[in-house]
Amino acid sequence: MICDNCHHRFKGNFCSHCGKKSDVDRFDMRSIWEEGYTFAKSIVVLFFQTVYRLTVHAPQHLKTFLFKDREFLLPSIEYLLFSGTVVSILTFKFNFFQTGYSQFEPGIHLTFISDASITYLNQFFAYTEQYSSLTNILAIPCFTICSYLIFYKEHYSLGEHLIINTYIAAQQALFLLLLSLLLLWNPSWKALLIDNYIGASIVYNFWVYYGMFAGKKINTALNAALCLFLAYILSFVFNLCIYSLLLPYRALIDPFI
Ligand SMILES: [Zn+2]
Repeated sequence: MICDNCHHRFKGNFCSHCGKKSDVDRFDMRSIWEEGYTFAKSIVVLFFQTVYRLTVHAPQHLKTFLFKDREFLLPSIEYLLFSGTVVSILTFKFNFFQTGYSQFEPGIHLTFISDASITYLNQFFAYTEQYSSLTNILAIPCFTICSYLIFYKEHYSLGEHLIINTYIAAQQALFLLLLSLLLLWNPSWKALLIDNYIGASIVYNFWVYYGMFAGKKINTALNAALCLFLAYILSFVFNLCIYSLLLPYRALIDPFI
């Protein structure tokens, strides 16, 4: 018999080279149900464990995941896709950020920036509010580059920085769920909640950097603050570039124009 998987020639029920079964079970409704149930159960349980672990002791649990146990957290890309999806649904349903919240006041005149630029920036801010998941995902490489350069001495690889920053972004997005529950309870808190949400996101990010990248304590704190500052500026510039590139095609993808 020849193995489907590795093309090794073998006798018996299992490939002696890669261990694959020589025949596959036929699908029936029972096996489909059992497979689906086992998959859903393991994903759901691991998802809630990940939410809990990254909320209470993110730095320690991220280290466990990176260096000891890869089954300890839901894989970062799945976690990000899930939280991004949740945020997109919630954003469209509750219009979280479509408040004109981050707009310059109409008719404002600033000496260092032209009126045309203010209009352009206001359109950009409206876009970031509408596509908050996309802009957050595009910010991940910016945060990764900044944390990699600033915490270079801690000997984490670029890939590890990417994983850490992906988890941070996903976790911040999930905190929006909490926000939406509070908003359902009292819609008039919107501006206050969004202010606090942004503050809490920054504090969360700071806490993870500070906990992950041990060093001289005061230096780590200063570096974490510097890293966040630079990463926000870099993400802003990067997203503005992407927006400028997308602008000619915006009417194609934007149902609100
Ligand atoms: Zn084989």
